[in-house]
Amino acid sequence: MYTEYRHEPFTDFTKEENQKEFLEALAKVKEDIGKEYPLIIGGKEVTTEEKLVSYNPCNKTEVIGSTSKASPKELDQAFAAAKEAFKTWSQTNPTARAELLFRAAAIMRRRKHEMSATVVKEAGKPWREADIEVAEGIDFMEYYGRQMIELKDGKKIVSRDGESNQYVYTSAGVAVTIPPWNFSAAIMIGTTVAPLVTGNTVLMKPAEPTPLIAAKFVDIMREAGVPDGVLNFVPGEPHEIGDYLVDHKDTALITFTGSKATGLRIMERAAKVQEGQQHLKRVLAEMGGKDTVVVDKEADVETAVEAIVTAAFNFSGQKCSAGSRAVIHEDLYDQVAERVVEETEKLTLGDSEKFENYLGPVINQKAYDKVTSYINIGKEEGKLLTGDESDDSTGYFIKPTIFGDLDPQARIMKEEIFGPVLALAKAKSYKEAIDIANNTEYGLTGAVISTNVENMEYAKRHFHVGNLYFNRNCTGAIVGYHPFGGFKLSGTDSKAGGPDHLLQYLLPKSISQAL
Ligand code: NAD
Repeated sequence: MYTEYRHEPFTDFTKEENQKEFLEALAKVKEDIGKEYPLIIGGKEVTTEEKLVSYNPCNKTEVIGSTSKASPKELDQAFAAAKEAFKTWSQTNPTARAELLFRAAAIMRRRKHEMSATVVKEAGKPWREADIEVAEGIDFMEYYGRQMIELKDGKKIVSRDGESNQYVYTSAGVAVTIPPWNFSAAIMIGTTVAPLVTGNTVLMKPAEPTPLIAAKFVDIMREAGVPDGVLNFVPGEPHEIGDYLVDHKDTALITFTGSKATGLRIMERAAKVQEGQQHLKRVLAEMGGKDTVVVDKEADVETAVEAIVTAAFNFSGQKCSAGSRAVIHEDLYDQVAERVVEETEKLTLGDSEKFENYLGPVINQKAYDKVTSYINIGKEEGKLLTGDESDDSTGYFIKPTIFGDLDPQARIMKEEIFGPVLALAKAKSYKEAIDIANNTEYGLTGAVISTNVENMEYAKRHFHVGNLYFNRNCTGAIVGYHPFGGFKLSGTDSKAGGPDHLLQYLLPKSISQAL
């Protein structure tokens, strides 16, 4: 028997001993600087000449480590290994597969600070958020393990006289996992272990800015006893191997999280049946967002301020769920805007290795250039209320920036920026605010700050998002508590960490026997 699922507790960094331990973990990660990780194919370490180098976004010339780079040649070997391993892994007792995840979760719990410190160093994520993210990775293993045990005997269907019927789940084949860098631990782990625990074998290609955390996770899975060929680690450049992974005839499933552009490209390419392919590929694609905090006129102002600031600036707004805009009833607009600016100006920006910094850098030069170009667009479209200071001399630092009085159709109101930029707009009525919140191609998360029960019910019916929150911010979904995924062009709404997520990696089989 297993304990009931509960999410992993977060580290309390107000305690001195926890701060001390975390500093030690950061120092340990630094000792590994320059370490090179191999590919893992069929259980073997494979070293290639070309390397994928990981840099510190706080200090852009600092190399943190590197991995070997896979080319189509190594991918072919990995597909062959995964196909072979599928024969036994898909027949392995589902409980044993779940237990593998429980063992890996236990190892990761013991190495939690080291994993979080790696996220701090490689993704520039502040301590607290890195800690929450690694806890989420552990949660995915604990939750999906239990979900698989529940599904192992299939679902009950009806039998009748002279006929016995069964409904069971079988594994699909070789899965390709393509995670983003912004949850380089949590999403990478979740989208790797979901196909694994359901009996599929995996080729995992981490996001190119964050291969080291993925290499460490693969180490943990090997320590936990993942059989050879079941999990293959194939980092590489997406323009060199992305299409190859997606197009390959042996790819049965693709679990992707990232931008809309890449997700749509993957969906389109995966739809084409390749020579020798005898199945249709399934694609889970979780993509971008343009998420809104709506403030009703009947709302607690301080709750609204807290929700808006947290949703906009946690991890420098680099979340698909970031509340990058707030639509505020005109009666409260001035008051809320003023307090949001006040609170934002208290936020500290700097090296993520220092606990006191609330915000770290954005991930790389490409992101820095994109975000600063949106700040220039914002200056033309709205009124600059605070921010607009950036510096990429050592790392990619952008001060939290807020624009007010936006037209709902403005670009910074509708396009995903993925940085610390917040747009504020005024609505004449609550219903108009919900209409504005629905005015983009995305439908991922949203929050409503209101004390009016009818208005809250209205949002449940009309605010078209996959994750709706009341009187809190719109980020920070927890596995098993807030199944996560979006509507519209935010993706296939696969609801990561939800009770039916695993079904997407399984083929249901109906069996009927005449008696
Ligand atoms: P991205 O699309 O650039 O990259 C995501 C992954 O796709 C990376 O592993 C990348 O290497 C890979 N990739 C890129 N081109 C590819 C190709 N042609 N073929 C195959 N793989 C390819 O996105 P990103 O910058 O890493 O992540 C940021 C985006 O992710 C944002 O839009 C954000 O909203 C989204 N995101 C969504 C969710 C969600 O759950 N909906 C969660 C996190 C991030």
